[in-house]
Amino acid sequence: MTAKTMISVEEAQAKVLEGVNPLGVETADLAECVGRVLAQNLVAPHDLPPFDNSAMDGYALRAEDTVSATPDAPVHLRIVGESAAGRGYSAGLQPMEAVVINTGAPMPAGANTVLPVEQAQIEGDYLRIDAPIKPGMHVRPKGQDIATGTPLLEAGTRLGLQHIGLLAALGLSPLQVYRRPRVALLATGSELLPYNAPLRPDAIRDSNSLILRLWLESRGVGCIFADTVADDLSLITRWLERALCEADVLILTGGVSVGERDLVKPALKELGVETVFWRVNMKPGKPILFAKHYGRTIFGLPGNPLAVVVGLLVFVLPYLNALEGETQPLPRYVTARLGTSVHKKESRAEFQTAQLCVMPDGILSVTPTTAQGSSLLGSLAQANAFIYLPPGENTYAEGTLVKALPIAPMEGCV
Ligand code: AMP
Ligand code: MG
Repeated sequence: MTAKTMISVEEAQAKVLEGVNPLGVETADLAECVGRVLAQNLVAPHDLPPFDNSAMDGYALRAEDTVSATPDAPVHLRIVGESAAGRGYSAGLQPMEAVVINTGAPMPAGANTVLPVEQAQIEGDYLRIDAPIKPGMHVRPKGQDIATGTPLLEAGTRLGLQHIGLLAALGLSPLQVYRRPRVALLATGSELLPYNAPLRPDAIRDSNSLILRLWLESRGVGCIFADTVADDLSLITRWLERALCEADVLILTGGVSVGERDLVKPALKELGVETVFWRVNMKPGKPILFAKHYGRTIFGLPGNPLAVVVGLLVFVLPYLNALEGETQPLPRYVTARLGTSVHKKESRAEFQTAQLCVMPDGILSVTPTTAQGSSLLGSLAQANAFIYLPPGENTYAEGTLVKALPIAPMEGCV
């Protein structure tokens, strides 16, 4: 298969996202909603703050009572009570009166300004004022933050920690959110040992299972089961049969290439599963397989661990995002300046492990790790991003602007 007949990354993404119907809707307490996708539009049910209140500890008064105040002819306001946080002053303020007020306490009816306690001169039961006080000082008016009826968030938004305070203050709980996908994982390969097993001759530890499980968990997607099987047609077929019954999305690794022991495709064929695409013009991860079967979706990722990570970032997570109702499911690239010249050997699109950082001038800089290869977990461990180099051009000069996909927190450049 040539690059011409191979599907591009973008075409493959379009096929993955084509006709995705979000999963059903469920109700969740706000405390459980970080990371979930909203299935309803949210509108402010009331003003925030819900009442005029003081921004300072001090005295609430009527500005109009102070217009004539001078140091020689001060105004004296009688202190008639207190408006405490949680228990306001209910009587209303009469002319020439003031009340003690706490931060966050309601402004009494009639009061329109606050004199901070630091500036107050108290003479017995009176507040002495030497100069006019402007109306509206240190008052947080009702609805200043959010007015009743303000559109807040749209269905399809993934809720983050930044949203929680607003929704809690407005009592917006429980919420309608999309159901999480049920994912089943299968690592195939007769060479695989559990990650916590001693090494045996000719065997390697299965890193893909843990990469996938933990990466998905970090996105709040749990796996209903995660298994490992040998390169054995009947074992793979039996696993697929079970997973097709129980999971929305099946993610397999290994065994999707053209070797005699690559048995995922034969197993799918045995079950009559239709392949949407196999092979994408990219590196790593070329022999990726995408299939659908009666509302279930199957990703067959190549066994090399970096192909697994790239396949996850570029195809699987966008699909899961769309399944969860997210309106912007594709990965968000950033534009960064190459910190060194880069050469790729093949014309295929390439994802290179890289270090992304912020230069002192605020510009993002991205530099590939020294070694590149689909099996190089050492390079992945050094990286906090992938550089995406599109097909075609093979040589990029230092300073060229390229797209990068962050995978871990970024720091300043050293
Ligand atoms: P395959 O796609 O089955 O041809 O595997 C490609 C390469 O990835 C081989 O070197 C495998 O040993 C390796 N590999 C396959 N599965 C895993 C796994 N679960 N964890 C780590 N490496 C794997
Ligand atoms: Mg294999």
